[in-house]
Amino acid sequence: MDGRAVVVGGGIGGLAAAIGLRRVGWEVTVVERASTLADAGAGISLAANGLRALDALGVGGAVRQASRGQYTGGTRTPDGRWLTRMDGAVLERAVGTPIVGIPRATLHRLLREALPAEALLTGSHVGSVRQTGPRTVHVTCGDTVLDADLVVAADGIGSKVRGLLFPAHPGPVHSGSTVLRAITERAVDLRTDFELTWGHGAEFGHIAFHDGRAEWHAVLDLPAGTRFADPVAELRRRFRTWHEPIPALLDATRPTAVLHHDVDELRTPLPSYAVGRIALLGDAAHAMTPHLGQGACQALEDAVTLAAALASGPTVDAALVRYDAERRPRSQAVARAARQAGRMGQRLSHPLAVAVRNTMMRLTPSSAATRMILRHHDWTPPHLR
Ligand code: FAD
Repeated sequence: MDGRAVVVGGGIGGLAAAIGLRRVGWEVTVVERASTLADAGAGISLAANGLRALDALGVGGAVRQASRGQYTGGTRTPDGRWLTRMDGAVLERAVGTPIVGIPRATLHRLLREALPAEALLTGSHVGSVRQTGPRTVHVTCGDTVLDADLVVAADGIGSKVRGLLFPAHPGPVHSGSTVLRAITERAVDLRTDFELTWGHGAEFGHIAFHDGRAEWHAVLDLPAGTRFADPVAELRRRFRTWHEPIPALLDATRPTAVLHHDVDELRTPLPSYAVGRIALLGDAAHAMTPHLGQGACQALEDAVTLAAALASGPTVDAALVRYDAERRPRSQAVARAARQAGRMGQRLSHPLAVAVRNTMMRLTPSSAATRMILRHHDWTPPHLR
């Protein structure tokens, strides 16, 4: 079964969906409102499920080559003591790979390179998506109208298409946190591949890249819209008593490189990921808090599952029913788990609760911690022809 698809949004989810659909014989146009296709975020972690999805799309090898495996690291307290140690080799033995870290711009470029240039329509804002017959959807961007047998809405957390399909849905809400992040401008001498440090209602973490630079992020519980004139100075002040390499990472960062976003999420789950011939995918369908590092991995799972469902048909409508049935329970469960991880991790602020949590983490055997991680990471993609 093949046809013509329009993908709204050229983020990680949209590009992955386009690659998957093309692999199963569909003609695809990705419509992206930005004039240059790039992912402005800093760095990203990909777990086994995301990497396996990328393998199914044929880009896993290139992504692995450009990534750094997270073999060492773990979770610490601000004075530097370890709560848990991570052993990437254990994960590698269990699921074939440690978690890996990669600059978002590199991941985005590798996905773009897997698509022909003519499949990407940039600088085009999709204003409306309307099903005009049982098998036709009109996508309007400016004066242009594109006809499609299928539309994939991968237009992110603020999805316009989701709003058109579910006008009564409340949409994204502020999680209570804000995140500042950047990639250092030079290599930093790091002893670990990955760390998270939890204080009271605050988190600082880093992901090391294979060229020696690193991305760091700082998550703070603050009202939506809070911004700082000099973010690096503000973070130096807030994290001044925290362990190395936090000060070194901030010292290696240009203030203009710092990105600052409020952390929002789709707290009310959607009742369906498909309406007629329109499928929702990635953050448009299930934007979650970043506490498990799974948002993009789930978008990649969506992309492969959608392509596989369309490949096995027998009709587009039947494939979309299967896509919804396979993806909604899992991605919504991961979103709930991410929220819960945030509550027990970065967001916990009561001193007694923090002390109890820290004691429990120190006492948890590493095998139990690994089992918890594998619950989300050990996903096997369907076969794509
Ligand atoms: P987006 O990346 O938001 O892409 C949507 C695209 O649609 C954009 O390019 C936008 O310009 C375009 N668009 C929107 N509206 C229109 C329109 N009307 N017309 C045309 N184009 C439009 N996930 C992980 O797996 N691992 C991690 O380590 C990780 N870390 C994270 C850290 C932070 C701080 C945050 C906030 C998220 C993190 N995530 C992580 C989640 C991950 O970043 C997202 O889940 C993922 O990028 C979503 O991809 P997407 O393609 O669905 O949406």
